Amino acid sequence: MSIRVRFAPSPTGFLHIGGARTALFNWLYARHTGGRFILRIEDTDAARNTVEAIRVILDGLKWLGMDWDEGPVTGDASEQGKGEYGPYYQSQRMDIYRRRVEELKARGYAYDSDGAVKFKMTREPVVFDDIVVGRVRRELTDREAASPDFVIVRSDGMPVFHLVNVIDDLEMGITHVIRGEDHLSNTSKHIALFRAFGVEPPEYAHIPLILNSNGSKMSKRDEGASLGTYMRENYVPEAVANFLCLLGWSPKDDSQLLTIDEVVERFDLAQILRHNARFDMKKLDWLNWEYMRRMSMERFTEFAQRELEEAGISLAGYPEEYIHEALKTCQEKIKTFSDLPEFADFYFKDRVEYDSETASKVLTTESRPILERVSEVFSGLGAFDSEAIQGAIKATAKELGVKTGAVVHPVRLACTGKKVGPSLYHLLEVLGKTRVAERIKAAIEYIGN
Ligand code: GLU
Repeated sequence: MSIRVRFAPSPTGFLHIGGARTALFNWLYARHTGGRFILRIEDTDAARNTVEAIRVILDGLKWLGMDWDEGPVTGDASEQGKGEYGPYYQSQRMDIYRRRVEELKARGYAYDSDGAVKFKMTREPVVFDDIVVGRVRRELTDREAASPDFVIVRSDGMPVFHLVNVIDDLEMGITHVIRGEDHLSNTSKHIALFRAFGVEPPEYAHIPLILNSNGSKMSKRDEGASLGTYMRENYVPEAVANFLCLLGWSPKDDSQLLTIDEVVERFDLAQILRHNARFDMKKLDWLNWEYMRRMSMERFTEFAQRELEEAGISLAGYPEEYIHEALKTCQEKIKTFSDLPEFADFYFKDRVEYDSETASKVLTTESRPILERVSEVFSGLGAFDSEAIQGAIKATAKELGVKTGAVVHPVRLACTGKKVGPSLYHLLEVLGKTRVAERIKAAIEYIGN
């Protein structure tokens, strides 16, 4: 059997992290089995359906590295997947739904009721074997038993979610419905609809919810709930994808750091965990760091540049070589790109501003002679590289009879404005002899007499 799966988001204006994971699991399953991944925008609710809301979904999926395989070639080319197809839009498929409603009526499963159309729901319990959840048996609730039939076309002519969802899964030959557990309670209705059309339903795999790290249910408003946050904060897309893969799925050997190709190779529905997944921000940051430190310098620079420019720090006018060397001193040190502006701004400023609390402790009259002496020693250096700088700082400390820290701290503050940052010897080398001399001079003037 050739596997056909789909991601069927409603355009709500943002892509929830749970939705992104659902998309990813579908995509992984398609790629693992050599099947097809379809993107279907469930946009029959015109009130919520905006171009912007759809763009959020498409951009998010593409950012995570997903592509879709089928669909009409219509509309804006930028909406299309790598195969230059789709997505499908339910709003463009109304004729199909109308035809299928007539079919249900002809089969005796649908009837008009107060201007609406209702579906004749089975009165029998619906039983199915969910790949993740196991055997599910759903009987009508007492309230449903009083009137089990439900509306499939509203009196304004709009077909409802259950109907169009099933029709499309049927029309598109979907073999596996992989979706959030919040839809488990809809599944008996969907199965009844499939059977009314005279076909067997697809397999179902309902993925457990994502909880906040404190165990509460993740809602729209929770921090980190939207994929857009990670896109805006310049997270590494592969790291976020890796993280999402592990939210409810785990390879047999429990590896954590996995390229998407490795996950594609190992992914199977049988390994989807049955318990709810917890959203662990620390783990995401750890993965992100692992990907950041493995990046080529070119790619790291691209991310860094975007982040710095968004923070209002312009790299214009700095030689490429200087930018590379500066960023190299940051690569293993920062945890996320959003740490970078604070960490590295001093490289790209004419004057540094001192963190006032540290300045009051470190730029004192006692450190003045130390800065004066180290400045002299620096100016006498031939090669101004990290090794020579380290030697010079240690020798100065020894000569003045102070600890190395008594030289290191004021020099760091003078040159960066901060207490922490990249390795001092390396950052001084990158700044270069002239800038370092100017900055130490400015610090001496700041201290005054
Ligand atoms: N439009 C539905 C949603 O976004 C799709 C549910 C499904 O995957 O069947 O929740």
